[in-house]
Amino acid sequence: MSQTQTIPKSIQKENLSMSSNNLLKGKKGIIIGVANKWSIAWAVAKACMREGAEIGFTYQGERVLRNLGKLFKEENLDPFSVNLDVTKDEELSSCGETIKKQYGQIDFFLHAVAFAKREELGGEFVNTSRDGYHLAQDVSSYSLIALSKVFKPLMEEKGGSIVALSYLGSERVVKNYNVMGVAKAALESTARYLAYDMGPKNIRVNVVSPGPIKTLSASGIDDFSKMLEHFRSVAPLKKNVSAEEVADTCVFLFSDLSRAITGELIYVDCGYNTLAM
Ligand code: NAD
Repeated sequence: MSQTQTIPKSIQKENLSMSSNNLLKGKKGIIIGVANKWSIAWAVAKACMREGAEIGFTYQGERVLRNLGKLFKEENLDPFSVNLDVTKDEELSSCGETIKKQYGQIDFFLHAVAFAKREELGGEFVNTSRDGYHLAQDVSSYSLIALSKVFKPLMEEKGGSIVALSYLGSERVVKNYNVMGVAKAALESTARYLAYDMGPKNIRVNVVSPGPIKTLSASGIDDFSKMLEHFRSVAPLKKNVSAEEVADTCVFLFSDLSRAITGELIYVDCGYNTLAM
């Protein structure tokens, strides 16, 4: 673990869309959900580092760890990382212990985790299996409760900010999103209950809902490329959303600029959700 946080090379090189405003200077955060360089969580991690935060990662298994290793090498980073499958209680508690030892306290975490079986993301929703329903809920929704419970003791002294990523399929019927739409509806409701529960400790919980972005998870949804095409043709801003645009909203929610915002759902979707269709 490097003691001084390095700014990722790609940010120094491209400067992305924003320059640093040190919005997260002195803050420590955990990013949950980087699988590879296309992951929205990776863009969030880079934006948080750009803003001066010290970032630790969790990863799901050895294969993801190898991907992370490559990313860290490319960016000349040496951050803290710990294994975590969010469906395993023993890993949740050992991850909490390890992070407590590493950081003592943290200021924020990102929940960018979702999973449904391939066969549940297409076809008739009425054929959703009991098993597939439970799995999608466990990974994509219950995990926010489990992680909040683990990290609450690390945030309650100073307050903190939790952000989870959802999708419009939670409240509108999006073809092929099926069981994941129901899991996202539960995730959004979960965030509101957690916000109420943890508000007295000044721990805020919000949800960001991005438009479709090409990532590993998205590739499991039938006809995803058609979705992207349709989206950019009709969204008010006439473009697709980038992971970096989502990341900048997460930075805002982790920062003190959003200190009176909790239990909210913020769309980062070029205005798509406002359309009547
Ligand atoms: P991604 O595949 O890069 O990230 C999904 C992550 O979930 C991976 O890192 C994977 O390791 C992790 N994960 C899955 N099961 C897990 C488990 N049991 N334990 C621990 N981690 C587990 O895809 P992404 O698109 O960046 O997804 C991140 C979040 O953004 C998800 O919640 C997704 O639903 C949401 N989202 C994505 C889009 C999109 O179009 N890509 C749009 C809106 C919301």
